[in-house]
Amino acid sequence: MEFMIYSKALFSTWIYYSPERVLFDVGEGLSTNMGNKVFAIENVFITHGHADHIAGLWGLINSRNNAMGDKAKPLNVYYPEKSEVIREYLSFILKVNGDLKYELNFHPLKLGEKVKIRDDGSLKRYVLPFPVRHIPSEPSYGYHIVETRRKLKSEFKGLSQNEIIDLVRKHGREYITVEIEKKILTISGDGMAIDEDEARGTDLLLHECTFLDVRDRKGEIHAALNEVVELIKKANVKNVILYHISSRYDRNAHRIVEKVKEELKDVKIDYVHPGRIWIK
Ligand SMILES: [Zn+2]
Ligand SMILES: [Zn+2]
Repeated sequence: MEFMIYSKALFSTWIYYSPERVLFDVGEGLSTNMGNKVFAIENVFITHGHADHIAGLWGLINSRNNAMGDKAKPLNVYYPEKSEVIREYLSFILKVNGDLKYELNFHPLKLGEKVKIRDDGSLKRYVLPFPVRHIPSEPSYGYHIVETRRKLKSEFKGLSQNEIIDLVRKHGREYITVEIEKKILTISGDGMAIDEDEARGTDLLLHECTFLDVRDRKGEIHAALNEVVELIKKANVKNVILYHISSRYDRNAHRIVEKVKEELKDVKIDYVHPGRIWIK
């Protein structure tokens, strides 16, 4: 399992990415559905303070306290620093949970602030928040997971394996390689289509798509499918998961997404059906 996702617009959204033990948003029903897997979560990144994205946090914090599982690992919760709603909610949670048996840390996050989530020597990964357009009164973030890799410098590309080994022996690995950064995952959070530059170069884009038909939308708060398709084309993204779909499309979501797949033949498109747990 790489992903476990639940997402139904206005009701609940949570996205668990197991390779990094990271949870994006904590809508209601998270603990109930994840069961003992809640102990695997190390870092939680909240996109914004709307109830459908945070209502399950109290439950998560409690179930990690009361259920059987590893209490030695801390739980870190990151959120947009300017969100008053989240700050209030977290202080309430702390007030009513005075006897926590594990370490719980809350971190207000600034835009552009990197959070290291993996450091295995040559493989490093961090989470990076970016701004999205949702509701002006509620600061909203999208998140990238960025990987740092070392790549062979272009001037050494033509060399044989033995010549390369020789150079590494003489000068060290740093000498023949250059560090590159790669977005391996981009999550839009709630809002209109994200900036093209944020989406460009990502291995996998998870984009909200509340409206599968733009004519159903009133006000520019959530993205519609035609805009996400436009973004996919412009940013040349090849792997996409649509989520935060309105339950009004319960019956025809499949058919609509299939049509888009025909239009974007070279793109792998998946979607999280509103109201169903999605595991991949
Ligand atoms: Zn939402
Ligand atoms: Zn929202």
